[in-house]
Amino acid sequence: MSSSPAQRRPFFCGNWKLNGSIAESLALATEVRNGVATLRNADVVVAPSFTALHAVAKRLEDGPVAVSAQDCHFEDKGAFTGEVSAPQLADVGCKYVILGHSERRQLFGELDAAVNLKARAALRAGLSPIICVGETLAERDAGETLGRVQAQLDAAIAGMTDADLGRCLVAYEPVWAIGTGRTATPGQAQEVHAFIRASVARRSGVAPTLRILYGGSMKPDNVRALMSEADVDGGLVGGASLQAESFARMVKEGS
Ligand code: PEP
Repeated sequence: MSSSPAQRRPFFCGNWKLNGSIAESLALATEVRNGVATLRNADVVVAPSFTALHAVAKRLEDGPVAVSAQDCHFEDKGAFTGEVSAPQLADVGCKYVILGHSERRQLFGELDAAVNLKARAALRAGLSPIICVGETLAERDAGETLGRVQAQLDAAIAGMTDADLGRCLVAYEPVWAIGTGRTATPGQAQEVHAFIRASVARRSGVAPTLRILYGGSMKPDNVRALMSEADVDGGLVGGASLQAESFARMVKEGS
């Protein structure tokens, strides 16, 4: 399908993973906020650990940088020891939640069906889910990239209305590019991003405005080439988001 990047505001989310005390997270959040203070043409989000969410959300309140969690449980409350619910995330000031990250899938056995339940819980709570999909190196080498992405996407958005889908973002994160320093080429990213948009277009009119992020060793020196592709609308950034200066530079380069 044809797509128009002009319909989609660039979106960059820093995924801080399991890093940072409250004090360190506050310092990083403040530096990011200051680093992007003059930027008007992109949405910027940071995703600290659960323990720092409340403090970071308070620090960034009313500013241009929003806060995301890195996961949530699919029930709103109950006997689920150790879990954190989507309404609790909304309560501490989150606007987004990353779901189905490959580290959750690979290290914690998260299944496609759980990603769907979590996304629906997030939507109920007023959060926007950032739904991650992506193939392993073995799947890519076996020519299964598009099939794997299709299966993950179909499962994650099953049962969603157009209004629900309109509040979601999708992150294409090839597993072989996450934290490895090996980035998908712009062409490889574009192929999958266009495929995702076309797939969503077959079931919903929101496809032209759906923001599809690339994730996997995105850095200041490769963001421009990736963002020049028609269907790459931003980034989900791990390592390079832990340095405020490089994250802010990347957002500026890519916007
Ligand atoms: C990620 O964890 O979502 C990610 C893309 O990490 P990195 O940028 O470090 O590859």
